[in-house]
Amino acid sequence: MLRSFSPLLWFHKVDKFFDFNLDQSPPTKEEVYGYEFYNKKVADGLLVSATMLRNRAKVEKSLNGTYRLVKKGVIYKDIRDFLSITSIPYSVFADPGTFTYANEFKLPDYLYDTDGLIDYYNDLNFDLAGSVDWPILDKILITRRGKRSSFDLNLKTKEMRRKLTLELASDFIKKCNKRKNLRFVPFGTIQGWSFDTYIESLKELLKMGYDYIAIGGLATSERFALDLLPLVWDEIQKSGTRPGMHLYARFPSPLAVREFLRYGVTSFDNTSPFITASRSPCSYIDPSIYFKMNNSWDCYNLKIPGIRSPFLRRAKKVLSEQDFLALGRLCSNTFGAFVNYSESGEIFYLKRLINLYYEMNCSLNDYRTRPLSGKKLGRLMDVTRSTLLKKPWLSCDCSSCMDLKANIVLTRNNYRIVHTFFHNSYIQYSRFVAELDRAMVEVPFEKYSWAEVDSLVKTKTEKI
Ligand SMILES: [Zn+2]
Repeated sequence: MLRSFSPLLWFHKVDKFFDFNLDQSPPTKEEVYGYEFYNKKVADGLLVSATMLRNRAKVEKSLNGTYRLVKKGVIYKDIRDFLSITSIPYSVFADPGTFTYANEFKLPDYLYDTDGLIDYYNDLNFDLAGSVDWPILDKILITRRGKRSSFDLNLKTKEMRRKLTLELASDFIKKCNKRKNLRFVPFGTIQGWSFDTYIESLKELLKMGYDYIAIGGLATSERFALDLLPLVWDEIQKSGTRPGMHLYARFPSPLAVREFLRYGVTSFDNTSPFITASRSPCSYIDPSIYFKMNNSWDCYNLKIPGIRSPFLRRAKKVLSEQDFLALGRLCSNTFGAFVNYSESGEIFYLKRLINLYYEMNCSLNDYRTRPLSGKKLGRLMDVTRSTLLKKPWLSCDCSSCMDLKANIVLTRNNYRIVHTFFHNSYIQYSRFVAELDRAMVEVPFEKYSWAEVDSLVKTKTEKI
């Protein structure tokens, strides 16, 4: 069976009581994670990267020497406690957070300490947890004297990253096997930059005796991933083992779900619902379309900057006080028209909103990093008008669409982007579940048993 893990659902919160028409939180706001806000599943589990967790909480040792999490003076005994999933049977997948150090010449120090990493995974109660890997890119981005530039990785460096990834995987499983009371399923990760190097690494990893393996570095090309999978499956069969297999940052396109199943993939994670949500002009995925089709408008957003938005702050630097105030007023009036329309649904307000939205976009055009051409502006207006008339949020039963209504297509502040991200996750997960049901009937596949992970999760949730 194939499971979907989300690497960002736990990273973003929304205020349950935020008033989108007033654009403000009440005096006592209550921030919750997406999966707490939703009464339906948006993923099979959560992926928590060590480097990302350190951005959200202090990872420290308690007096008895075990790891715990501390945020704003509150102590959390483990990851389930921190993520408020004590009663939800989400499994938590942990990894080191590879992409955050992909551009570095050295791993963060604590990742060289395998025993420390095992303690961290074990003490914080993760369910599946991985060895340290280092992505092998053709180019990395480096900053010198404040300037970003790209730097080619030569073959020697690529091979060094591949070998270190294998050495750390070997050290990880050896040390895990020596532990008593290990409370997570360890997995080993490989990296490569060609079919040959991936298969070479895989052969070595399979010899190490892992029950779960992961393949990194496949985010950019689905074609490469799909061509690699039969070769990987061939090696797994030759080895006489049947480990679970995770593909990092790779959400399958509809047909690829079948290929994933056929070739033994058992889990994946991806950031695309968030990337889509934070992109303009396409951020809200149309629930009636479900997946991206080429050259079609399957996603929307309206952008009406707030007076304190980074965009208007940038414009302030180049505008006279008078022009800045005029622009701010125009944005506020457009937002006001949006609120009137979203509350009343009357065509009169829609016409006023469309006129003001057009005027605002023309005025903002001079300050955009990439100004809209006349053609693009025309298209933007067509999409905006048709989106508001079509009301796509009415055909979605996710908690964000039902709560925000028209506001879900307006990208104005973080909470809205986060809600759009949750909505996109929900749509993508629903599509995935439907595709998986079809694929399980259509393709022969060898079942992987999640029993070990599920029983760990069950024990942890029942204990509470
Ligand atoms: Zn929705």
